Amino acid sequence: FLKGKRALVTGSTSGIGLAIARALHEQGAAIVLNGFGDADEIAKLCEELGATHSGADLTDVSQIEAMMDEAGGIDILVNNAGMQFVSPVEDFPVAKWEQIIALNLSAAFHTARLAVPHMKQKGWGRIINTASAHSLTASPFKSAYVAAKHGIAGLTKTLALELAQDGVTANCISPGYVWTPLVENQIPDTMKARNMTREQVMNDVLLAKQPTKQFVQPEEIGALAVFLCSDAGRNVNGANWSVDGGWTAE
Ligand code: NAD
Repeated sequence: FLKGKRALVTGSTSGIGLAIARALHEQGAAIVLNGFGDADEIAKLCEELGATHSGADLTDVSQIEAMMDEAGGIDILVNNAGMQFVSPVEDFPVAKWEQIIALNLSAAFHTARLAVPHMKQKGWGRIINTASAHSLTASPFKSAYVAAKHGIAGLTKTLALELAQDGVTANCISPGYVWTPLVENQIPDTMKARNMTREQVMNDVLLAKQPTKQFVQPEEIGALAVFLCSDAGRNVNGANWSVDGGWTAE
């Protein structure tokens, strides 16, 4: 049902973004991928999805502008690229703070401001932001990430109100712990910050928060993105949908 629509999914060479891109492609949307990675693997993904790819670094505003220029009119904008860094606040590298705010928050403002004129002109659009359970609640040692994710939840609500009469919806999807490279890669730093073993971090830190005691799978997020793009989802606007096994219900 998304034939004729063009979707840009940022951070879609891996993890959740790739699952969203696959799910939108299955519904017929033309896909623009974005993200880093091995050139051969990205070429394979482009072939699999009939997609184009932008390697823009979304911490750089001029690269975002060039990507949006090249991509053409975007009907479905999925702001998903994000990174994590775990450190006590007094040791948190200033450059990491700047990078996380730029990627996890400011990039979504830039892509949205550049995508919205086309959506308004078409009278249809979908903006889906991958936020996080950390857009609703905090954890220690993740100051930049939690600040950026609370920020993107606020940006999403503002976009929802501004565009409500233009056929454009803006929503957040807020996963708990999804089994992707982002989660796997933060285990060593969390081991260090909390002086724990790998098993302790998995069970006592990550899944401790998730009442279901299961990692969310990326495909579950893809399925929700498809629903938000559907006609049945047209009045879901400004929402922050948790997919966290009950974490934020506590
Ligand atoms: P991932 O590390 O698997 O993928 C991140 C993607 O972003 C990759 O495609 C990577 O190349 C791209 N990327 C990184 N830096 C970039 C940059 N500067 N410019 C452009 N692209 C860049 O991560 P993931 O787990 O799939 O996370 C995707 C989103 O989901 C993030 O916003 C993350 O915060 C959010 N999230 C993840 C989880 C989880 O448990 N995995 C939970 C909640 C929210």
